[in-house]
Amino acid sequence: MEVETFKDGNGDGIGDFRGLTEQLSYIAGLGFTTIWLLPFHPTPFRDDGYDVTDYFGVDSRLGTLGDFVTFINQAHSLGLRVMIDLVVNHTSNQHPWFQSARSDPKSYYRDFYVWEKHKPKDANQGVVFPGVQKSTWSFDRTARQYYFHRFYHFQPDLNISNPAVREEICRIIGLWLQLGVSGFRVDAAPFLIEMKGVDASKSLEEYHYLREFREFLSWRTGDAILLAEANVTMDTIEDYFGDGDKMHMLFNFMLNQYLFLALARKEAAPLLEGMLKPPPIPENCQWANFLRNHDELDLGRLSDAQREEVFHEFAPQRNMQLYQRGIRRRLAPMVNGDFQRLTMAYSLLLSLPGTPVIRYGDEIGMGEDLSLKERDSIRTPMQWSADANAGFSSAPPNKVFRPIVSDGPFGYERVNVAAQRRDPHSLLNFIERCIRMRRECPEFGRGSWKSVETNNPAVFAHSVQWATGTVIAIHNLAEKSCRLKADLGDYKAERLVNLLQDEKDIPLRGKPLQLNLKGYDHRWFRVVRAEQ
Ligand code: MG
Repeated sequence: MEVETFKDGNGDGIGDFRGLTEQLSYIAGLGFTTIWLLPFHPTPFRDDGYDVTDYFGVDSRLGTLGDFVTFINQAHSLGLRVMIDLVVNHTSNQHPWFQSARSDPKSYYRDFYVWEKHKPKDANQGVVFPGVQKSTWSFDRTARQYYFHRFYHFQPDLNISNPAVREEICRIIGLWLQLGVSGFRVDAAPFLIEMKGVDASKSLEEYHYLREFREFLSWRTGDAILLAEANVTMDTIEDYFGDGDKMHMLFNFMLNQYLFLALARKEAAPLLEGMLKPPPIPENCQWANFLRNHDELDLGRLSDAQREEVFHEFAPQRNMQLYQRGIRRRLAPMVNGDFQRLTMAYSLLLSLPGTPVIRYGDEIGMGEDLSLKERDSIRTPMQWSADANAGFSSAPPNKVFRPIVSDGPFGYERVNVAAQRRDPHSLLNFIERCIRMRRECPEFGRGSWKSVETNNPAVFAHSVQWATGTVIAIHNLAEKSCRLKADLGDYKAERLVNLLQDEKDIPLRGKPLQLNLKGYDHRWFRVVRAEQ
């Protein structure tokens, strides 16, 4: 979540640590175990804080270091862990390191960045934001050289092959661990570790940097983790996990894209394909699954035709799409607010192998504002109530730093926390129940999974087995109801206990499972064996 958009505690129109601290019991109450904070360091805020000018501080708009420590203390007392973004692929061009590097060729910091006298021939290749960003090399008038920037021109890349840069990265990790942080989401991991500059060639050595950071982290804090943002091909996955000695977790971008293809087609096959794509990972590593995050829904790993199918279903208008590869919408409007379909999607997310990650506001089905630029459409303030400014801030409306979604079916008067708290059938209460049950079923996260064959190609069914038992999840991806049949003979099930709905146990005793499913229906079952 972004501190800026969650809750404003001092009435200046910008969310802050004071506001976030006040709302921690809301997050803990829903059953979440960990909060992931997007960057909160001092920044000119030209890329939502991903342009950092001081890694050791807190941006004054959001509070002080003291406010941060109070926040961590409160989070811990509520049993919440805190993860933060580690944005060290690049700095802001306003960072003192870059200012020193550009102004003096002899500066200690000169080699913190990647310079070239002439603009490289491939400068227009490999931009991260196609359609918005034109080049990866820009001329700096002060340095009279070109500098490399994988992202926007105001975000010069750090030169990771310089040991002094890696030392600084460890110092950053060290500070925040000492202040109580439990882990880092490593921003843009593939770019961070790539060899930079014109002579750059991919070598195995680059992945060693990940082990270096992991060793440092583990020496300092035994149970802290590194979670990489790495939307990469499956043949490089092993390089990120290593033998369980590099990244602890990776976001499963591949599964995310195939999951949306399955939702768009209303067919289980693409989801199964996405689940089978990644190679086996070390026992002590884990995938992080998500439906939507703070960026565009990146569909770059699908074929052009597959991507078009997803666009057609979920983002038919041009201004809903971004960077020629993604969708800049939240989930609820993508499914036109269809409650059945939304709850099915979250039930699916919470039952897939791995650790589920949910973006703030998605637990109440917030919408987007497509009039805002690029990814700002999905970064609007949290909708707490039907009060002024959605209860986000007591500032005059024109001081609120980003517009609140006010019109239409997803406006704050209709979609807000206060209303959904009171409604037992709300999405908020569904998510809370679903998270609680998920925590009672550790199999989903940690067990080994198997696809369960059914008579309907629209139904995705899988079982997960672990030391604690076996659970089965069934999801109808289509709006059509059906009579489902599945042979569960291998499970030697005496009966199935419905974990989410108020439904009697289903006796099996060797017979196939027969079940009436409504459109977009879902079930979680615990298998009770005969000998139990
Ligand atoms: Mg404020």
